[in-house]
Amino acid sequence: MARVYNWQINRTMSYWYGEARPKRQFAAVFDINKCIACQTCTLACKTTWTSGRGQEYMFWNNVESKPYGSYPLAYDFKILDKLGPQPWEGERYEGSTIFEAAPAGERLLGYLPESADYAHPNVGEDEIVGAVDGGMAMELPQPVWMFYLARICNHCTYPACLAACPRGAIYKRPEDGIVLVDQKRCRGYRECVRACPYKRVFFNSHTRVSEKCIGCFPLGEQDVQPRCFTECIGKIRLRGWISTPSAANEDNPIDYLVHVQKVALPLMPQLGLEPNVYYIPPIHVPEPFLVQLFGPGAKRAVERYKHAHTENKKLAALINLFGCTSHVIPRFRVGDGTVAALGDKGEELVTVPIREPVTVRTAFDAKRGVPRLNVT
Ligand code: SF4
Ligand code: SF4
Repeated sequence: MARVYNWQINRTMSYWYGEARPKRQFAAVFDINKCIACQTCTLACKTTWTSGRGQEYMFWNNVESKPYGSYPLAYDFKILDKLGPQPWEGERYEGSTIFEAAPAGERLLGYLPESADYAHPNVGEDEIVGAVDGGMAMELPQPVWMFYLARICNHCTYPACLAACPRGAIYKRPEDGIVLVDQKRCRGYRECVRACPYKRVFFNSHTRVSEKCIGCFPLGEQDVQPRCFTECIGKIRLRGWISTPSAANEDNPIDYLVHVQKVALPLMPQLGLEPNVYYIPPIHVPEPFLVQLFGPGAKRAVERYKHAHTENKKLAALINLFGCTSHVIPRFRVGDGTVAALGDKGEELVTVPIREPVTVRTAFDAKRGVPRLNVT
């Protein structure tokens, strides 16, 4: 095993291959507070990529209700339980990653789901923790809660799927960091399925090889965001590029959210993969659950996000850019009452107002003699 640096756990760790970061790394931020579980993203992906034979059960994008929802069944509980205690010392992870916890003779700690584990992708949907009693009032965090977690492949910096493949059939593209399965080299051993703790690789029983989310790379090559991003009804998603912390740029929206403001956090960073999809955690959920899912920065992220509109105008403005353009957003700029998405050379892609204008009209239009709704 090589020694590599993982900034999400703030230390070096063991990995099967040496550190080889791509020229640019695909990255995304999902704002959980905006997701309405409409599953439009799920269907956008399904109809684009997985409508063929052997793909019936696959959802490269899925949205599960936490804490009870999961696809495949209990994937998160199973790997966290196998890993054992996961202590953090401040921002540094002191426990074992799945690579460091590998059983003798294996490359990492994993498990292979049963076929039945994929049978109920909407298990636990909308189920809440606790019971709603009469007289309950809104409070933060809420004692009764649930939230929606949208998931795709994280195009990890240290992919478990890639490390586990004995055929070398999985590779990370140097130009954008997207992780792909070479369908010609794959022999269907399913080591990748066993290895990925997020269970984002799927075995096709018809073609007998593995398949996974491709980050819509044909769109990305034209600077267009993936289908599950552009179709997102809740406008929860922003696709861009991430730098390492020491190279972070304030005008890069992903860097700003992840490195500068630290409001967007990776999913289960303690597993050690340095995943590149980041989440703005839900503001109504008790902290211990958020820490288990997103690491020790969860409380700070929630507080900064909650108070952005009064304390951080730049952050509040950037949150308005989510879902406003189909272009990948490498840069952004906040102006007087507006926020703009910019291309690599600073060219304007779209500009939107930070506050939507609202016009209040009289409920009765005297000129036309008709009642009408009073908001345009
Ligand atoms: S999320 Fe899973 S499938 Fe995707 S790159 Fe990481 S280990 Fe591989
Ligand atoms: S389309 Fe957007 S809002 Fe709807 S479920 Fe997917 S991520 Fe959530």
